[in-house]
Amino acid sequence: MNPASVGGAATDPNSISEGPSSGVVIASSTLPTASHQSGAGESSSSPPPPSRYESQKRRDWNTFLQYLKNHKPPLTLARCSGAHVIEFLKYLDQFGKTKVHITGCPYFGHPNPPAPCSCPLKQAWGSLDALIGRLRAAYDENGGRPESNPFAAKAVRIYLREVREGQAKARGIPYEKKKRKRSNTITTAAVGVNVYITRNI
Ligand SMILES: [Zn+2]
Repeated sequence: MNPASVGGAATDPNSISEGPSSGVVIASSTLPTASHQSGAGESSSSPPPPSRYESQKRRDWNTFLQYLKNHKPPLTLARCSGAHVIEFLKYLDQFGKTKVHITGCPYFGHPNPPAPCSCPLKQAWGSLDALIGRLRAAYDENGGRPESNPFAAKAVRIYLREVREGQAKARGIPYEKKKRKRSNTITTAAVGVNVYITRNI
């Protein structure tokens, strides 16, 4: 229903808000190389420290590359399709912390269940959506051609939309009305992304 939410990298609020803010030029590169600085690993003139979005994006990218490496049968980035990306998202569900009720559960569609149930925990839609936005950008930045970007595949968009609609129903949370359920959706989204990587928020 809301076309803006399916945008990905270009409309990712993080990339817009955090980009320019860290653009201060550090003019202290009087020393030839990083001899005075400890362990930066960069030989070029000292860049500003990466924003939280940038470092998150880098971690996500490394996580995905690691996933490809461990994939059976082995998978290279060049052969990676939207279907593999969806497989990756499903794989991440095991690290999720968002309760998604199955249709047979008495709390299906209940935003605040009064008692625990045995329904599975999954990655919140908001986490996956933000993750795909970052990975899509990372793919571009690492030399991938836009027309073969698996994170931009139509199948991935459709999958994310299905997850959103399914979780909205199962959890009784209409994502379109984020403002009314603010505390709920934001907490789950924030927790979800960082579970499988190191927590830094
Ligand atoms: Zn349940």
